[in-house]
Amino acid sequence: MKVYTQNKYEADAILSKVIVAFEQYKVVPTPLNFLVWYEYFLGTETALVEMLDSAIANRDGYTNTLGVRIYEAFLKEQQVNTSELEQAFRKFLERMISKLMDWTKGMEQHTSALNTYVNQLSDNDNIDPETLKSLTGSVLSTTRSIVASQTELQQEMVVATLKIQELQKELLIARAESMTDPLTQLPNRRAFTDALEQAMASTKQSNDLSIILFDIDHFKKFNDTYGHLIGDAVLRFIAGIVQKVVEPSQLIARIGGEEFAILIPHASIEQASTLAETIRTKVASSQLKRKDTGETINNIHISLGVASYRPNEEWDSLYQRADDALYQSKKQGRNRTTVAAV
Ligand code: GH3
Ligand code: MG
Ligand code: MG
Repeated sequence: MKVYTQNKYEADAILSKVIVAFEQYKVVPTPLNFLVWYEYFLGTETALVEMLDSAIANRDGYTNTLGVRIYEAFLKEQQVNTSELEQAFRKFLERMISKLMDWTKGMEQHTSALNTYVNQLSDNDNIDPETLKSLTGSVLSTTRSIVASQTELQQEMVVATLKIQELQKELLIARAESMTDPLTQLPNRRAFTDALEQAMASTKQSNDLSIILFDIDHFKKFNDTYGHLIGDAVLRFIAGIVQKVVEPSQLIARIGGEEFAILIPHASIEQASTLAETIRTKVASSQLKRKDTGETINNIHISLGVASYRPNEEWDSLYQRADDALYQSKKQGRNRTTVAAV
């Protein structure tokens, strides 16, 4: 499954790229093409990107037929979020596609009528002026119908494209929200397990991907002593400390009440345990100051478990090993790091 982490601004940036590409490659702004190019600039579907890249490099460039092929191959069966928004978007797409079909049918009828007139004209050498006038009139009115229907379609497509931009933005925001923990604004458990699965799929070597799980020690005591709101502040405080320590390639998530996880791609177990110890000591030496009373809250500490990927292992097995290591840290007195056997 995919991880959609685009915020409003990133989504806007992708939309702008799509609009520029539509101009550059003379893409007809149909909903289907829009979807295909959106995915292209999102870049998560590598095979789709490659297929489109080679089409652009090709003399024929991008065509509607290719768009349909890409849609059928990569997007049609995509795991669908059943949210109302996504359903609305699908319905909208279907409506636009059937409109396009109707338009194509109408065009076919017009074209075949034109052919008939042209045949009548060329078959008849001695055409009388009356017939000629009537045939010319028919050709003209059919051509006008074609122009009118094309203009109408173009206008509909402009409206549709704008509407799709709006829906896509909402959809991306909704997706990002469903992957975010509202209290700390960190990715949530779902985002973490998705990212972990994805990272594991591209890791072949053992000891080249590690995870850290950690849990705040005696957190219940903070709630009992200072109240739930201060408990929330402690959660945000710790999230902030860890965010400053991790690198952009590493993903920190809040996976449960007072439990967090860090995904560390391309890191050995030794590097991961060094990072775990850095985080542990940083948290243990930190102090949170209450804004209302000025009172300092110390004694905040965490227990950690570190595990490194074993080839062919499922993500939940890796996760379980890190969790067992964390449990060992708790059992041995807390405020410590335990490293799972590689
Ligand atoms: P341990 O060292 O064994 O982990 O002890 P602990 O007290 O941290 O663990 P326990 O599982 O007994 O309690 C966790 C507490 O975390 C209980 C729950 O009320 C609190 N908690 C979970 N989510 C939130 C939250 O979002 N905000 C606040 N303030 N508290 C939370
Ligand atoms: Mg816990
Ligand atoms: Mg705890």
